[in-house]
Amino acid sequence: MTCSSYREAISARLDGEALGMPSRELDDHLTSCPGCAGWAGEAAVVTRRARLAAAPAVPDLTAAVLGALPRELPGVAAAARTRLADSALRLALLAVGVAQAAFVLPVLLTGAGAMSAPVHMAHETGAWNLAVAAAFLAVAAAPRLAAGALPVLLSFTALLLPVTLADLGAGHVHVERAVAHLLLLAGVFLVCTVAWRGRRRRTVRALAGRQVAA
Ligand SMILES: [Zn+2]
Repeated sequence: MTCSSYREAISARLDGEALGMPSRELDDHLTSCPGCAGWAGEAAVVTRRARLAAAPAVPDLTAAVLGALPRELPGVAAAARTRLADSALRLALLAVGVAQAAFVLPVLLTGAGAMSAPVHMAHETGAWNLAVAAAFLAVAAAPRLAAGALPVLLSFTALLLPVTLADLGAGHVHVERAVAHLLLLAGVFLVCTVAWRGRRRRTVRALAGRQVAA
């Protein structure tokens, strides 16, 4: 379970709502995670302050507020769009991973389809390319792994791209095999996008947390 799930449970506890997990499990996490323990302390202070502050006298704006409300709350619509985009990215990555595995598996099992490379070379490249497919599938299943997969995937792509172009020019590679590398490019692009979106979301959350704490 991630820290954000525990923080949801902390908020629920402060509001006297159901935690969505055993209370004991939350307490155990709070003793072992200083980040969440600090967050819980700050959240408690904010909640107390909000409850203790005397409500200032305000004019009744109900009619004006209701009149100004959009038909659909923008926050809700944006969250739905984000979820949709996340799912689409993961599905695309799943498709690329499966296609890459399907392309590589025969090479790995039989040593065939690797042009005139010696059998062990074919096996070795096959294993490497299957590992790349596994990385795509792993990120599709668990997007938080995206950033960690990037150093290897980006180095591989950065090295393979220029040598493939040079080999194409010199006639050392069949066009079909070079075209298969487009799968790699597509997969790496998707992993980069997943990592970038995850990072942006964490930054936004951290900024929001800092504003709450301030
Ligand atoms: Zn935590």
